[in-house]
Amino acid sequence: MLELHCHTTCSDGTLTPEALVALARARGVKALAITDHDTIAGWDRAIAAAANDLEIVPGLELSTVHRDRSLHILGFYPNRAQLEGPLQERIAGRHRRAEAMVAKLAALGYPINLSELPEDTAPGRPHIAAALVAAGYVKTPQAAFDQWLGERGPAYVPYEPLSAPEGIQLLRRCGAVPVWAHPYLFRGGTVATVLPELVAAGLMGIEVYHPHHSPSDIRHLEAYCQAYGLLITGGSDYHGPTKEPSKGNVNLNGLQVSLDLLPPLKQAAAALKR
Ligand code: AMP
Ligand code: ZN
Ligand code: FE
Ligand code: FE
Repeated sequence: MLELHCHTTCSDGTLTPEALVALARARGVKALAITDHDTIAGWDRAIAAAANDLEIVPGLELSTVHRDRSLHILGFYPNRAQLEGPLQERIAGRHRRAEAMVAKLAALGYPINLSELPEDTAPGRPHIAAALVAAGYVKTPQAAFDQWLGERGPAYVPYEPLSAPEGIQLLRRCGAVPVWAHPYLFRGGTVATVLPELVAAGLMGIEVYHPHHSPSDIRHLEAYCQAYGLLITGGSDYHGPTKEPSKGNVNLNGLQVSLDLLPPLKQAAAALKR
């Protein structure tokens, strides 16, 4: 099976690239994309751990802002040398943003310390949520999101400016196939109104299969892909094992995405590089 959306300890996942690869192998995944937030630091470790019996699809999940809300774009098969410079700036922005959220929390009366994150980790809100749990302010990360870290929460800080069209163009310039991640999680407008804006900017695919998408969401997205001539991708958006299973939280390979989706993605990536 195919798994095209996963996070590791290089961003806000809780499994190392090596542990993720071992789990993917055990779950029967044949091709595994590493799509950390704004970083490609996990690729080499995943590729080394995968040896020859699991194909690693190099990817990332780029964080952009569209209509004043966070919008995620997956990028598959980027040219590393072209993307590394721009990503360094995005990761530096993530560090500044995390510090700004920590400062807001301190001002609200909830001081935390984020210093023990590994060097190669691009920090995100889940790290802050975990620190709030560790400090004993809330029982679960979800409660931290509900109380402070949600997009309209009192400690939220948006990503540093990068519009969705700029993100799509950046990915394409670097040879990566841009795919709108989990469209029905976007809060800045309906899929029907936002999708044409992204297609005009050069979007090439939609993440149709995602744990937060209902069967009717999936049918709508499949129809949009057909209408606009877009690629279909899917993945579990796996962030590591969780204690309590909840909606939108499936296991690695839980969506059983077909390997048939991979060759068209590879062809599109090759065409971008010609
Ligand atoms: P960031 O890129 O730092 O804004 O963090 C995004 C990540 O936070 C997502 O990939 C999810 O893992 C998690 N997340 C975002 N919104 C929520 C929410 N409302 N509740 C729980 N987790 C969330
Ligand atoms: Zn995440
Ligand atoms: Fe995302
Ligand atoms: Fe993700």
